[in-house]
Amino acid sequence: MPSERPTFDLVVAANRLPVDKVVTDDGEVEWRRSPGGLVTAMESVMRSQPGAWVGWAGDAGEAPDPFDEDGIHLHPVALSADEIRDYYEGFSNDTLWPIYHDVIVPATFHREWWAAYRAVNERFARAIAEVAAEGARVWVQDYQLQLVPMLVRQLRPDVRIGWFNHIPFPPVELFAQLPWRAQLLEGLLGADFLGFQRQADARNFVRACRQLLGAPTKRDRVTVEGTQRQVRAAAIPISVDFQGLEQLAKRPDVMARAREIRESLGNPKVLMLGVDRLDYTKGIRHRLKAYEELLSERRLGPPEVTLVQVATPSRERVEAYRMLRAEIEQTVGRINGDLGQIGAPAVHYLHHSYPREEMAALFQAADVMLVTPLRDGMNLVAKEYVTCRHDLGGALVLSEFTGAWHELHQAFACNPHDIEGLKQTILRAINTPAKDKQRIMKALRRRVADHDVQRWAARYLAALDAAPEQPRPDPRG
Ligand code: ADP
Repeated sequence: MPSERPTFDLVVAANRLPVDKVVTDDGEVEWRRSPGGLVTAMESVMRSQPGAWVGWAGDAGEAPDPFDEDGIHLHPVALSADEIRDYYEGFSNDTLWPIYHDVIVPATFHREWWAAYRAVNERFARAIAEVAAEGARVWVQDYQLQLVPMLVRQLRPDVRIGWFNHIPFPPVELFAQLPWRAQLLEGLLGADFLGFQRQADARNFVRACRQLLGAPTKRDRVTVEGTQRQVRAAAIPISVDFQGLEQLAKRPDVMARAREIRESLGNPKVLMLGVDRLDYTKGIRHRLKAYEELLSERRLGPPEVTLVQVATPSRERVEAYRMLRAEIEQTVGRINGDLGQIGAPAVHYLHHSYPREEMAALFQAADVMLVTPLRDGMNLVAKEYVTCRHDLGGALVLSEFTGAWHELHQAFACNPHDIEGLKQTILRAINTPAKDKQRIMKALRRRVADHDVQRWAARYLAALDAAPEQPRPDPRG
């Protein structure tokens, strides 16, 4: 029986759909577009061709029926409460995340988590196979869906498959710890093209295929065992919607709000800002340590200098995140207790999410932006900060362990493990003459303006189209 379902020439698959469910006061269910670069990038691509997005809608249990929103066909995938625990919080965020981020905390391995990961990846693959048109382009996102490329290929050998990794890909010495390392590599090798944030990530992947699978490799290509098929792995770093965000930052109400933020902090001479998900990869502890030492050595002090640390709630059911939160909050309490003054705390700590307007105002208010991750695939906050500084004000302190640093070399670079060095860099970012800082900011902004998220998506899809052609079976009848 022919299927009634619509099919699409472009299918994006990500763990989450790009919408959040909102229940209005009169009990109606509405879907609101979630903010984020990926959605903006996809809109620019899907404007020229209709596309579908396969992902989880955010609640446990049965999936809502597919629906259209803002010109995108949304195809929800169901996750049970157990699967959220095992596939998402467990395998994705407590097994893969630590391994892919230098094992800053130890990874946890459970065979039940792996089974759930496999089952959910299979469900995603079936959903993709349902909505993909003949010969469609399928673009799979991120570390939660690494088995999907091969599973889709088995179901639909006619489609072209890409995968993009938003986080780092680890060195083979760390990746090799994974009991399911071969299955993960084989899953990814189902793709035609694999995109990474940095060249080093792409190289790590190719090396893992050679050393752990014995696959023949040549430069950025891996040949799949028993076939002539080649898979290309290359860096195409993600970015932000420069124009859209700059426009927002230029709005008079946003600029007025930036001034208001400074005033309500007592118009400090130097306002420093950190904006991170509360994650152990972000180097928040290292940043606070450097700041605390600068204060206790009286090289900086409130009320002239203050730090606003926005720490977005994250993964609160994973133990390592609960422990991190307790530690950060204790440290902030100690710094304020020891070094703050009445009416002038040393750290303003905010554990909230904010609307985009408020984030843009905060970025504009900050003299020094502290981006100090121990490991980060990209770090979009760094790019958002420079995008919002159309006044050429401010200074970006940026960890060498972020993907962003590979593009934003002119920033005040730091190694967050080197507390003494980090302190020096913070002081340099404060004391460099305004004229020099403007020159730096101009260069940083040019880089992001020329490499925005729309260009990222276009480059990715061009690379997918150009990926090595391979022998294909006859099209399905
Ligand atoms: P990660 O993806 O690891 O969280 P990124 O820096 O790449 O790190 O992206 C974080 C995104 O979340 C950015 O777009 C940033 O503006 C946004 N964000 C971070 N904290 C908040 C917050 N408290 N409220 C709203 N948005 C936030």
